[in-house]
Amino acid sequence: SVAQIYNFSAGPAVLPAAVVRQVQSELVSYKNSGMSIMEISHRSSLYTEMEAEAERNLRELMRIPDEYDILFLQGGGTLQFTMAPLNFAQKTKQIGFIDSGHWAQRAIEEARLVPGVKAKVVASAKTTNYTSLPKDPVLQKTYDYIHLTLNNTIEGTMYRTLPDLKNQVVVGDMSSNIMAQRYNVKDFDLIYAGAQKNIGPAGLTVVIVKHSLLHTTPELPSMLSYAKQAAKHSALNTPPVFAIYVASLVFKWLLQQGGVDEMQKRNEKKAQLLYDYLDSSSLFSAPVKKAARSTTNVPFVTGNAELDQRFVVAAQENGLVNLKGHRLVGGMRASLYNAMPLEGVQKLVEFMESFEQNIG
Ligand code: PMP
Repeated sequence: SVAQIYNFSAGPAVLPAAVVRQVQSELVSYKNSGMSIMEISHRSSLYTEMEAEAERNLRELMRIPDEYDILFLQGGGTLQFTMAPLNFAQKTKQIGFIDSGHWAQRAIEEARLVPGVKAKVVASAKTTNYTSLPKDPVLQKTYDYIHLTLNNTIEGTMYRTLPDLKNQVVVGDMSSNIMAQRYNVKDFDLIYAGAQKNIGPAGLTVVIVKHSLLHTTPELPSMLSYAKQAAKHSALNTPPVFAIYVASLVFKWLLQQGGVDEMQKRNEKKAQLLYDYLDSSSLFSAPVKKAARSTTNVPFVTGNAELDQRFVVAAQENGLVNLKGHRLVGGMRASLYNAMPLEGVQKLVEFMESFEQNIG
């Protein structure tokens, strides 16, 4: 048998073990069809029923009101950096961005590549080197929308409550904490998330969009149009069937576990265990200010790059894998998504304690 591994990757990330086993058990013959899910038509009832159930379960998990459409698209979070401006930055052509870190900056860069669109930074955490969240923006005019990154995967900061955005249209990138933290969908007009952290395999992007806004969008190439994707129920072209199938199993697993509120509770407990240790350690420390700390991505350092490297290698030899920090910030990062069990974090903290003792 394979030794127990705990995978702290930021994404693609750990999936619930029960889901991976279920994929294995029904891979060869999906629902006794004699075909795998990868081999069936996206026009078959086997697929459309699975897709419809996935949507229903996601709606229940996130309490998505009926006035919102759910889209299963491709192109990752990154294509949404382009689709959102193409569809929704067409009146004043000005977008207000909250600069909370690297992924917010990528969203700004891509928006600026859309002809005619102006991206304005309305708040930034640059002065604290992104170890806190930006101050609430002062919004004197109306933007086509305000773009907010709910969880900053690289820097390890997260919004627990939303900043005051003064009734502006709000677009939220939830890529790294969708369904890990309870947000009120009604606070947003558009939500998007790449699947490969808390939802399923890469290749699927979940988009949640207020239906009434789709009437205001311009005529666009079909694949880039939320309205046209919605009109075709996310099957404008061949959807990523396998990724949607795995996501559907993750949604069922989440419901069985008690849903988003239960996940949030578990994530807080897991993160607290690690942060408490980091704050008490004389070797390791967490750079992020307490109020802004993410429950899903926890960066930490020793302050010595060579020691960081030794730690990452030693952890890996002990089954604690993918702890190397993002190349932009260095150090370590433990990603504690929904599928990371508490035992994984307990094992990590135990290992860090023994590493610290051996160093001292
Ligand atoms: N936004 C956030 C917050 C992310 O963490 C990531 C990926 N790590 C992206 C966007 C980009 O996603 P993708 O690779 O799916 O395009």
